[in-house]
Amino acid sequence: MKILKNYIDGELVSVDSHIDIFNPAEGTVYAKAPRSQEREVNCAVEAATRAFGKWSRLSAHERGAYLLRIAQKIEKYQEDLAMAETNDNGKPLWLSNAVDIPRAATNFRFFATAIQHFASESHSTETVTNYTLRRPIGVVGCISPWNLPLYLFTWKIAPALAAGNCVIAKPSEITPVTAYMLSEICQEVGLPKGVLNIVHGYGNEVGACITAHPQIPVISFTGGTKTGAQIAQTAAPLFKKISLELGGKNPNIIFGDCNFERMINETVRSSFANQGQICLCGSRIFVEESIYDKFLERFIAKTKQLKIGDPLEPDTKQGAIVSREHMQKVLSYFDIAKQEGGNIVCGGKAFRGEGRCEKGWFIEPTIITGLDVNCRTNQQEIFGPVVTVTPFTKEKEALEWANCTPYGLSATIWTENLTRAHRFSRDLQSGIVWVNCWLVRDLRTPFGGVKQSGVGREGGWEALRFFTQTKNISIYQGE
Ligand code: NAD
Repeated sequence: MKILKNYIDGELVSVDSHIDIFNPAEGTVYAKAPRSQEREVNCAVEAATRAFGKWSRLSAHERGAYLLRIAQKIEKYQEDLAMAETNDNGKPLWLSNAVDIPRAATNFRFFATAIQHFASESHSTETVTNYTLRRPIGVVGCISPWNLPLYLFTWKIAPALAAGNCVIAKPSEITPVTAYMLSEICQEVGLPKGVLNIVHGYGNEVGACITAHPQIPVISFTGGTKTGAQIAQTAAPLFKKISLELGGKNPNIIFGDCNFERMINETVRSSFANQGQICLCGSRIFVEESIYDKFLERFIAKTKQLKIGDPLEPDTKQGAIVSREHMQKVLSYFDIAKQEGGNIVCGGKAFRGEGRCEKGWFIEPTIITGLDVNCRTNQQEIFGPVVTVTPFTKEKEALEWANCTPYGLSATIWTENLTRAHRFSRDLQSGIVWVNCWLVRDLRTPFGGVKQSGVGREGGWEALRFFTQTKNISIYQGE
């Protein structure tokens, strides 16, 4: 059995107590992660504080060189990392190979080079020149979820390090293995000790300690809205800088004039990719009445073709749900939806795997119709392979319904009408809008949500600005 360790002050360190790590496709324990406490967080903060002086004074080029070496090693160990991600999370192996691991390498590569082009402003008058410094802040905390484990973990760590900070990072206790492998990679590339520290453990233990720690003035968090609220509550009186990337209940609005074939293929993906466990999945589908019947028929037929089961099989489209608890939560919404008057027209139950996957946690991709837009199923984040489909007749109605949840992360629109696409994009209450596409990610663009989907933006300059402190210097130069 693999026993993971913390990565503190450049060393792999054991603790006495452990958390069971499950392979969700088999439903069995296959690894153990440290159940760290305040002591480990304190050691990590001390190490990071010691490392900060030297690391923050390296040139952008020197820091970037370390990050590029990490990217190269992630690429070198791509196959092992992808296998580990799939065993930990349940996602299809081809998906880990195509998306999760390459993106983790790209995160390091992107910020290793972005920092070399990062500049600050200068504002001059006839008599005074202002210039603005953007300095690294110190020790920052990065806390990430289980759905895209290494992908989101490195999406925070890379810009934080590139900007010259030292990091205390906590991966999800449900999917910690690739974070552990990243610590081995950091050792291999000779990252100076204390620059990155990875402390494993539960959210309400290690996560809460990181959030409350007086020597961690910056918290970058991705996870659920409820956890985000707890973090904000702790961080606010300590005046910490926080970035919160939270939940979503994203609308997918389909007009009758769309490119139907392209839309239907992408809608299957935006509904069920990663078993629907992507914060950007479009879980509320609104379809213009004129094509509603045709849409539903094709959508159900295509969804039924998705092969569920062993994530290691190359033709599997739906892998396992990340944990038993999460599976039970998702399944509970099928009863709720029925009580709310919904019709389950596809899926709606657990799926039994075969062979080694007999005891795994699988759910059939599920489509529900006939629900009111304000019911729980349509308002609460389910975060599984579950979508609702609702017909609309007027554009105004579609917009109102799209905006009627407490969330506002992303939205997708399908229309060939350019003016409508612009108008809708402007009026949607969300941080990200995709028109005639989904999950197209350009790392230079701002990423984040409005309303209860979060505070702050990640990506490109936004991330480098977040992880630096501005200071304006004003110099009198004579009349
Ligand atoms: P979660 O909030 O339960 O956990 C996220 C992380 O926070 C984990 O590392 C966890 O250990 C830690 N944590 C838990 N309680 C904590 C506390 N009190 N203090 C500090 N840290 C704590 O979320 P999850 O179930 O791991 O992930 C799923 C959620 O993440 C969904 O709501 C999803 O929408 C959201 N998500 C959002 C984005 C985004 O970019 N907006 C991306 C991916 C996932």
